[in-house]
Amino acid sequence: MKILRCRDLGFNCGFITTGYDADELKKNMQEHIETIHRESFEKMDEDDKEDIKYRMDFLLSRGCGCGAL
Ligand SMILES: [Zn+2]
Repeated sequence: MKILRCRDLGFNCGFITTGYDADELKKNMQEHIETIHRESFEKMDEDDKEDIKYRMDFLLSRGCGCGAL
């Protein structure tokens, strides 16, 4: 099973989404960020937004999702 933690993407937040489909998790997390962290997200520049996407892919590709770098 895969896991994505909002905290691992740089937000001070306990939201976690889990599942088996990486695309589904990314969609869930994207929706969460755009809803709950809307203000922070809108202040980010394109580089920061790309970095979040990159981190999501990176965390999901590692499988264990433990978040320890
Ligand atoms: Zn969050």
